[in-house]
Amino acid sequence: MTKKDIYLYNTASRLKELFTLPQGASEVKMYACGPTVYHYAHIGNLRTYLFEDLLRRSLEYFGFKVRHVINITDVGHLTSDQDDGEDKMEVGAERTGKTVWEIADFYAGKFKEDIEHLNILPPTTWCKATDHIKEQIALIEKLEEKGFTYRTSDGIYFDSLKFPQYADFARLDIAGLKSGARIDLGEKKFATDFALWKFSPKDRKRAMEWESPWGLGFPGWHIECSAMSMTHLGETLDIHCGGTDHIRVHHTNEIAQSECATGKPFSRFWVHGEFLRENNSDKMSKSSGDFLTLDLLKQKGFDPIAYRLFSLTSHYRNYLNFSWEAMESAQESLNALRKKTQYLIGMECENISLDAREWSVKFRQSIGDDLNSSGALGVLHLMLADSSILDKEKAALIKEFDSVLGLRLSEVVKKEIHSEEEIAKIESLVKERDEARLSKKFTESDRLRDALLDMGVVIKDSKAGTVWEWK
Ligand code: AMP
Ligand code: ZN
Repeated sequence: MTKKDIYLYNTASRLKELFTLPQGASEVKMYACGPTVYHYAHIGNLRTYLFEDLLRRSLEYFGFKVRHVINITDVGHLTSDQDDGEDKMEVGAERTGKTVWEIADFYAGKFKEDIEHLNILPPTTWCKATDHIKEQIALIEKLEEKGFTYRTSDGIYFDSLKFPQYADFARLDIAGLKSGARIDLGEKKFATDFALWKFSPKDRKRAMEWESPWGLGFPGWHIECSAMSMTHLGETLDIHCGGTDHIRVHHTNEIAQSECATGKPFSRFWVHGEFLRENNSDKMSKSSGDFLTLDLLKQKGFDPIAYRLFSLTSHYRNYLNFSWEAMESAQESLNALRKKTQYLIGMECENISLDAREWSVKFRQSIGDDLNSSGALGVLHLMLADSSILDKEKAALIKEFDSVLGLRLSEVVKKEIHSEEEIAKIESLVKERDEARLSKKFTESDRLRDALLDMGVVIKDSKAGTVWEWK
């Protein structure tokens, strides 16, 4: 491994491979599966976007230009992998009393806000599933023409046994599935077949449905990512990423339908981030009645960048266990790091000594070794403790390292860390203001809003309720 090389673990080969671009290519075509916008993203979801941001920043650090696409899944998926169950968007709409289009807009906006607060770089392109229905239909038609589909009474399905490599990516045991316990397949021919297009029910109008060559309906879960990634990046991607939960079904299906449609490899590298857990369980959604969101962390007084630092302390391919104690220690580490780096901000350094350059080499080696972020953080700490290099050299190295770590170490920190009492006071004022507003005491509610503003707190009346944040 040299300092110029970046190695990435490719799920397809289960090996760390040197990342290079194909001959003649000038940029990395990278696609990341985006959020389903029926609810807030939880901090587990956000760990995956943080890892993808680390990947993108690392590639840029190693001199690659990256074209990064993230999709917004705003078409309702069915809540199970078996193409049945309830529609997540319709469930979200019912919960909030809004239309599916309103909740999609609201939660997509909220997601963009979260990633901005985490200092995740915005992708080169955002794309929405509902803006790409035509492309999804065209892809299904192509598969139909090539004989990879069949029709049942509720939709058009992909015939997975017609793609002999179907099991390879996730190392599935197809023979076991064939001989295994009989599961109820309905009209599906085989357990791994999946819906490409679902027909709308005859007795009910769906909140989202479109005309298609097969009648009124909506796309299946997986087709949108194939259609959008190929529309924006071409038929073969350089990197496709997402959480490890997507390996078995979603990404396996994306590969099958894309490769059957084009006859070309779908992605050269597959990079997957491991789950954030709570109490060592994959179930992340609720914690003592609270949804674990970035807003909740902020309301408890944590800086979003402390969550970013927390996620960098473990390798992206390892489970990371969330606890409030771990968050507190991440916040303390961030405060300590800032204390050590704030006084260096703004120092200019034209020439950096060979000794100082050595730290840069070490940092590059850590990142180049499949994004070893905890190793890279270790290099940052050792460099800051090195008394043989000049402050202005440290300033230059912080800037360089932070282009990958994204901890905003070269920016002046404006916010104080807030005490629990202060947060409790804010929450009670927000509640009082809500009550005043509900009972139409507008003078009182304006007074409380101004009092909160004086404390540095902004209130937002959103469709999903009142949220507050630091100014
Ligand atoms: P979703 O909005 O459910 O499609 O999920 C968005 C992303 O978050 C996907 O890439 C998932 O793989 C990922 N994800 C879901 N749960 C977790 C978790 N607990 N930890 C890390 N990533 C997760
Ligand atoms: Zn996807």
